[in-house]
Amino acid sequence: MTVKPYQNEPVIDWTTPERSAELKKAIAQVRSQFGKTYPLFIDGQAVTTERVLPSLNPSKHAEVVGHVSQATRDHIDRAIAAASRAFETWSQTSFQERAMYLFKAAQIMRDRKAELMAWQILESGKNWAEADGDVNEAIDFLEFYARSAIELDKGQELIPWPGEDNRMMYIPLGVGVVIPPWNFPLAILTGTVVSALVTGNTVLLKPSPLSSVMAAKFVEIMQELHLPAGVLNFVPGDPAEIGDYMTGHPDVRFISFTGSKQVGLHIDEVAHRRSEKQRWIKRVVAEMGGKDGSVVDETADLDWAAAEIVAAAFGFQGQKCSAGSRAIIHEAVYDELVAKIVERASQLTVGPAEENPNVGPVIDAKAFQKITQYIEIGKGEGRLVLGGEADDSTGYFVKPTIFVDVDPKARIMQEEIFGPVLGICKVSSFEEGVRVFNDTEYGLTGAVFSRKRERLEYARRHMHCGNLYFNRRCTGSLVGVQPFGGFDMSGTDAKAGSKDYLLNFVQPKTVTERF
Ligand code: GLU
Repeated sequence: MTVKPYQNEPVIDWTTPERSAELKKAIAQVRSQFGKTYPLFIDGQAVTTERVLPSLNPSKHAEVVGHVSQATRDHIDRAIAAASRAFETWSQTSFQERAMYLFKAAQIMRDRKAELMAWQILESGKNWAEADGDVNEAIDFLEFYARSAIELDKGQELIPWPGEDNRMMYIPLGVGVVIPPWNFPLAILTGTVVSALVTGNTVLLKPSPLSSVMAAKFVEIMQELHLPAGVLNFVPGDPAEIGDYMTGHPDVRFISFTGSKQVGLHIDEVAHRRSEKQRWIKRVVAEMGGKDGSVVDETADLDWAAAEIVAAAFGFQGQKCSAGSRAIIHEAVYDELVAKIVERASQLTVGPAEENPNVGPVIDAKAFQKITQYIEIGKGEGRLVLGGEADDSTGYFVKPTIFVDVDPKARIMQEEIFGPVLGICKVSSFEEGVRVFNDTEYGLTGAVFSRKRERLEYARRHMHCGNLYFNRRCTGSLVGVQPFGGFDMSGTDAKAGSKDYLLNFVQPKTVTERF
């Protein structure tokens, strides 16, 4: 098979007249499909259930984007049985053959980009650029993991041994449960599902209830490819009913989860409790939260730092595990930089996602409540200099909020808020800034703004996070360019978007033949 070299999907400016007309048309078309019911997909069959869950438009919560069927334990049993059967043949197909499905899915997504963006704008509250980025990343994952799989198939070169043929090959694990998050509703979902599939595993996909229409659209795309029955099963459902049941099931071999620390740790515990009849140690790949931030010294370009700090804190309403929710600033430039950050953030527009504001709604009522509670906590921990207001009368809107002079140990500097809230603190040296940065239980992303080479080298060695950026924002990793994943309570550092990522879903087997 000839495969052209990998390239990241180009960013499109959707604000040009033609593009914005195309996107608005797609938004109108998607809106005309509101309220439809989406079935489960088990063993190659659509299954509509009596119980359905509505998915709402966070910009206007009276609007139901779609109703999604809800799996029961019985459905899970059927899906696991189907996935186990399908594994017997799917695991024996070649990496190349499986990679072909990914290349085709990438092309379908490219062709339907405006529509896929429109679903996210309406179901997830992403503005146009964020939605563009998400669909691009989904395509990138498909293109990148397809190539990585073809590479992986070559195996590892071994030391030659006289009279023997030695080979090490990578074989799939088995049936996996994939639980992606709502915040990158197509990108992370696609990346986590197809990495498992392309390596020969079969999958039960349980999406977040908050983005399950987008997930259903992904499943429709995969259906177009005519994957063999049982290879991919779609089982949205109530975590209380099916969550532990799936992850604790003896026939499940691995779990790939992206979401909160609390849920990730719970899954890890359930998965690693051996149940009767279980014949393996389950593998858990978990990508969890972050309390990421920027360290700025007195030599930094302050205008640039301010722009990047604002983008990292408030992009997609701060609902990224990579969001820069802390700024740690040297005292010599503290007042000046704070003024620049506040000035920039005060210009951000807030509104319904389809109007393409800088800041859209937060995802749901629960998130709105949690974020506004943290804002109340923040009022006791720092000085509120911007925002603090929120309105959930039509959609879940929270104004970009900034607290200054916050103690690094304060709750708003330690706990993940997952909303548009930035905490700022002052330090008297760069080394102190790095210490403050490291002093959380997380270790996902970080940024340094400095013009001093020795400071950057110090940070390279001492800042403890999976993705460290110098003189740029700490969000927006690109597939293949900045492999993504974090340390400590941020997860298992599986490094999505790296060639190594596929190793999470295979086991190496060595075969020796004596001549
Ligand atoms: N990879 C994304 C970024 O670099 C974040 C992913 C997430 O929030 O889960 O911004």
